[in-house]
Amino acid sequence: MTKGQKAEAREKRIKMLIEAQGIVAGGRCPQCSEKLFRNLSLSGWWQCGHYGAVGFQKVPGPNCNFQIFYDPTPDEHAEVLRRKQLAA
Ligand SMILES: [Zn+2]
Repeated sequence: MTKGQKAEAREKRIKMLIEAQGIVAGGRCPQCSEKLFRNLSLSGWWQCGHYGAVGFQKVPGPNCNFQIFYDPTPDEHAEVLRRKQLAA
């Protein structure tokens, strides 16, 4: 990977993390507005309360498959917060 490609890949990842951080901080599913719940099986894994088969959902209701990861390294997390501050 060239330096330019590396920088591009990091930029993409930071943008993805900024979006994920915003959704997780909001605490609501962007697809159905149900509350988001942390799935402790993997770090940074959040799922819609309506995620999963009927009978296995945190919040019973119509099925929603939304899930998202916010799993930055400490360095990435600092960069996300820095850019959020700049944008505010
Ligand atoms: Zn949902």
